[in-house]
Amino acid sequence: MDASKTAGYQPVSIVRTVEGIEEATHRAIAGIGGMETVMRGAKVAVLKPNFVAGRRAETGATTSFAVLKAVAEEVHACGAEPVLCEMPGTEFDREATYTLLGVEGFCARHKIRIARLDLEGGTSEWREVHPTGAKRLRSFELPRLLDDARLINLPVLKTHVVSGMTLSMKNLMGLLPRPARRAMHTLGIDQCIVDMNLGLQADLNIVDGSVGQDGEGPLYGEKANLQVLVAGRSSLAVDLACCSLVNVSPRAIPHLRLALKHFGQPEIHFTHELPQPLKTFRLPRQNSLYRLLFWLMYPLDYPYTWLAQRGKHLCTTLYSTGLVGTHPVIERERCTRCGECVRACPLPEAINLQTLKVNYTTCQRCLLCYEACPEQAISVKGYSGARS
Ligand code: SF4
Ligand code: SF4
Repeated sequence: MDASKTAGYQPVSIVRTVEGIEEATHRAIAGIGGMETVMRGAKVAVLKPNFVAGRRAETGATTSFAVLKAVAEEVHACGAEPVLCEMPGTEFDREATYTLLGVEGFCARHKIRIARLDLEGGTSEWREVHPTGAKRLRSFELPRLLDDARLINLPVLKTHVVSGMTLSMKNLMGLLPRPARRAMHTLGIDQCIVDMNLGLQADLNIVDGSVGQDGEGPLYGEKANLQVLVAGRSSLAVDLACCSLVNVSPRAIPHLRLALKHFGQPEIHFTHELPQPLKTFRLPRQNSLYRLLFWLMYPLDYPYTWLAQRGKHLCTTLYSTGLVGTHPVIERERCTRCGECVRACPLPEAINLQTLKVNYTTCQRCLLCYEACPEQAISVKGYSGARS
């Protein structure tokens, strides 16, 4: 990580979204010196939202389109092209995730190019980096697209069942190919997040706390309705400010504790509001058996991918059985076969109304069907904080 983006004087802009998310995004960018100071003549800005899964921004799981729209407008105003680059979680299908979120249509309307890189890496679209000082993740691949571009990181302010919180530093994982992400989980996610940030730095971070998620995030926690955005050049400074807003000690978040040890405490200058706690977040319950089973999927994925077709991973296969992960189940005694769930589901053939079964090979666990069912005939099974 560039020392100028960690230690020392770091401006951080905290703005409320009460009057609108787009307007707040423009204010947050102005607060840290304007988009021109970020772009510095570059012709491409890579936008990295958090589209980890097909859970819409209203749930607090993914980045709001309003933030992306305002950022894209600012990039266009600098005479540059915004390019969206994001690899959803390995257990989810990228195209289905984009369909659930409506990414294609949104990007077309706002002239944002979508970079669909090979998720497995190893092609000419990727180049290897060897970050100096890395302890565990000593090399990994990054998109070549970043070589001449500025990177604008747009994470969500939310809790995470594995890392405690997911903010700016962790969000960059979605720019790495799946094998590198697997290595991060296998080698120890917390140190690897610090190592990744030694080789990859955003030019601007805007954390979307317009909703945010508390409890069992990052997908099925409780909507936090924080109505805030936090922007800055230093991902560590921004993440520390986010922790203050939700009354979480950064030392309770292992990767932030390691980052503070490595980079030192930045001197944060708040350009708008001071970080008064808006809420006290409850960090996810740490179930050791769940963590062990979750971790085991990664080392076991190495032999699995040697035998499987390129692009197939153990977690995807396990998810497609319906035995693993959060998933909807139709309770036939309560179901009236009204069809509301099928109409709510943006994916074809995910629900069979004849058999009242969910096809877990297609289903991407967005839970729109669960929310749409007027009879509460769909229950959510698996490790989840989803509430009825
Ligand atoms: S919406 Fe509920 S009641 Fe209607 S068909 Fe689907 S599961 Fe059955
Ligand atoms: S079946 Fe339900 S959870 Fe699965 S993709 Fe369709 S709406 Fe989402």
